[in-house]
Amino acid sequence: MLNCDAAVVGGGVVGAAIAYGLAELKLDTVLIDEGDVAFRAARGNFGLVWVQSKGIGCPPYSSLTRRSADNWLRLAEEVKQVTGVDIAYSRPGGVHLCLGEQEFTDRAAVMKQLEAQTEGRFQYEMLDHRMLSEMLPGLGPDVTGGSYSPLDGHANPLFLLRGLHAGFRNRAGRALINAPVHRIRPLAGAFDVEAGNETVRAQKLVLAAGLANAKLASDVGLRVPVHPLRGQILVSEKVRSFLRIPTLHVRQTTEGSVLMGDSHEDVGFDDGTRPDIMAEIARRATRAFPFLRSARIVRAWGALRVMTPDGIPIYDQSESCPGAFCAAAHSGITLAATHAFDLPRWIAEGALPPEFDAFSARRFDVH
Ligand SMILES: Cc1cc2nc3c(=O)[nH]c(=O)nc-3n(C[C@H](O)[C@H](O)[C@H](O)COP(=O)(O)OP(=O)(O)OC[C@H]3O[C@@H](n4cnc5c(N)ncnc54)[C@H](O)[C@@H]3O)c2cc1C
Repeated sequence: MLNCDAAVVGGGVVGAAIAYGLAELKLDTVLIDEGDVAFRAARGNFGLVWVQSKGIGCPPYSSLTRRSADNWLRLAEEVKQVTGVDIAYSRPGGVHLCLGEQEFTDRAAVMKQLEAQTEGRFQYEMLDHRMLSEMLPGLGPDVTGGSYSPLDGHANPLFLLRGLHAGFRNRAGRALINAPVHRIRPLAGAFDVEAGNETVRAQKLVLAAGLANAKLASDVGLRVPVHPLRGQILVSEKVRSFLRIPTLHVRQTTEGSVLMGDSHEDVGFDDGTRPDIMAEIARRATRAFPFLRSARIVRAWGALRVMTPDGIPIYDQSESCPGAFCAAAHSGITLAATHAFDLPRWIAEGALPPEFDAFSARRFDVH
């Protein structure tokens, strides 16, 4: 039996960030992960720290995203200081490119809505083809324009995951890897978490197991209705530096390779790839930047997003088993700073703040 103050189930980017923060608060924390057999969005994502268009129709989600993006530099600097891992974070702004007049008109309407609901605190500009070309040399003629926001940025998501795990360990956190949690038993004031052959007894419990949260949550009176939504990503060989500002569908890494992506496929628990979808991703990317036609694709993968029914994160504390929390988000890179700095403090204090009511799964209750 392993005794601890807090057990975090799931060592993806959400669980690792929360465990990293709990360890900083000096809670004796055990991070439990299923290992490499699991579906893991944290290893297959695009690496954007993206603010524009997040939270349309849900102002608390816009604020949460903005707050996390504003704290990202602090997170990157702190992880580097604690572990030496450079997450390659930068915030040069970001662009959502539009192909054709209709996309441009629709995009302008979305951005206006976001501006209205954030009472002008959201910064963006709609730029036409000529203005965007000055910002993004090599833009193809099919690009009619796009939305630019200085609030966006990008990072290396694999280095983020590595840095959070290393930071957690440096802060005396204990990790239990290759230990799938199969049952959680609530006790008076504690939880027995059965993971592999081990039992972890924890005063506090955080469920951050991505898609597996849906099943584990009921053991502690929580509800996390998440489902998979596949995204495929193509990676090119390293090319000359041409894209300093990330776009939603195409971004260049600091090493020089180009990532292309953003498919949304409802295919259940299938994280494979499909040639027709890959072709469509490549077509859109090369229309945006025709120069990419000569770049070779060296890798491609599919990964499963952790989607809630409305796309908004779920954060809850169990009413029947106080001390049990859950976190599920499909923008785990963007929200990493909030998961590392804010959530752990509230979990340690034993209550989520009132403004987090908007993220409770109670919003799905039928009245
Ligand atoms: C194609 C794609 C592109 C994306 N692009 C971006 C982006 O640009 N920006 C952004 O902010 N977000 C992006 N995301 C989303 C981001 O990757 C996810 O929000 C994030 O990875 C979710 O993290 P997680 O830790 O909740 O889940 P996961 O990363 O899926 O990790 C879940 C973890 O739980 C563990 N686990 C599962 N079951 C158990 C169990 N029973 N016991 C113990 N451990 C268990 C697994 O081993 C795994 O490590 C993208 C996602 C995809 C798929």
